[in-house]
Amino acid sequence: MAVETRLYDLLEISPTAQLTEIKKAYRKLALKYHPDKNSDAESTEKFKEISHAYEILSDQDKRERYDRFGEAGLSGDAGEGGMSAEDLFSQFFGAGVFGGGHSRANHGPRKGRDMSHTLKVNLEELYSGKTTKIQVTRAVICKKCDGKGGKEGAVRTCGTCGGSGSRIITRQIGPMLQQIQQQCHVCRGAGEIINERDKCRECNGDKVITERKQLDVVIEPGMRDGQRIVFERESDQAPNTIPGDIVIIIEEKPHPRFKRRENDLITEVKINLVTALTGGTFHVEHLNKRVLAVDIIPGEVISHQEMKSITGQGMPGYRHEPTGSLYVKFDVVFPQSNWTSPENMEKLAALLPPPIALPSVPSGYSVEEVVLSDMDPRARSFYSKNPDDMDEDDGPHRGGPGVQCAQQ
Ligand SMILES: [Zn+2]
Ligand SMILES: [Zn+2]
Repeated sequence: MAVETRLYDLLEISPTAQLTEIKKAYRKLALKYHPDKNSDAESTEKFKEISHAYEILSDQDKRERYDRFGEAGLSGDAGEGGMSAEDLFSQFFGAGVFGGGHSRANHGPRKGRDMSHTLKVNLEELYSGKTTKIQVTRAVICKKCDGKGGKEGAVRTCGTCGGSGSRIITRQIGPMLQQIQQQCHVCRGAGEIINERDKCRECNGDKVITERKQLDVVIEPGMRDGQRIVFERESDQAPNTIPGDIVIIIEEKPHPRFKRRENDLITEVKINLVTALTGGTFHVEHLNKRVLAVDIIPGEVISHQEMKSITGQGMPGYRHEPTGSLYVKFDVVFPQSNWTSPENMEKLAALLPPPIALPSVPSGYSVEEVVLSDMDPRARSFYSKNPDDMDEDDGPHRGGPGVQCAQQ
């Protein structure tokens, strides 16, 4: 459980509070201490502190770190003094998770490198949870010699290098004397010597042996892309070293029917025009062998590309998080051209709301009749893209013949 509670105390909530409670508490206190309401220094400071607490506790990742390590676990994010994010990261996760082999000031026993694995998981598995077995190959301390490499007393410190494993030699290059560090040729950098006949037969004097181990990776419902599952100190063992962690990084595979945004799911549903206008039932195949039957109430009228929400049918919340919503985006399928007779069209026109009234032509304006035709394919593919992706400079009119830009 939480090692510190200051941030929870600031928001006047318990360390077991759900996200909604955190949001509520923040809202209440932020309104109370907002500088617009209270300009005194004390309130301003309090407002900052509340915001900081909220920023941490509303972020799943940061909250977990705070619960585990207290505020020391956040100092890099918060931009406050103390340990930098990088040092902290190295301390808890070891160097090398992101491929960085940078050195750091040493305090106490060295921590070994972490091993990280990416685990591809589909949305069904993240919805329902799953346990996956993975095999890792790692070095473990030899049990036969207890990591000594040989019989008791068989291991001697190398006399050539004094146990450092390296020697400084001085070389003359032209008029300059240069000192360089070289691996000790007697012990080959090990700093110690074991007689061939005294070497441990199990590890051949290496002190470690290779072992295959099975890890049960528990994918909990609601876990996300990029989330890390840490097996502390399960990485390679070496004498006088704290083993690094095995870090499993979840990679969410794209899903053919659902898009995920936080814990919300978005799916597209095709309905016919008649259903959109007069109601009916449509079905959504969910992620855990369930089919949702959803009614469109007669008279509700669904527009093309309209979005509706189904509460509680998004992704399950990870641990204390609330369940997300399922958002349905409707793709209303219109009939093809000339799908019915002119008589039926007349009937339909009589049933549907009247056409939008023509605008009145201001006096002094003339009316010009023009022709509607199909778009040229290049222009159509460009304009049918998501409007947000459209770039002014990249239009089909650029250098293309036939289309002219009207300038005011
Ligand atoms: Zn051994
Ligand atoms: Zn040596």
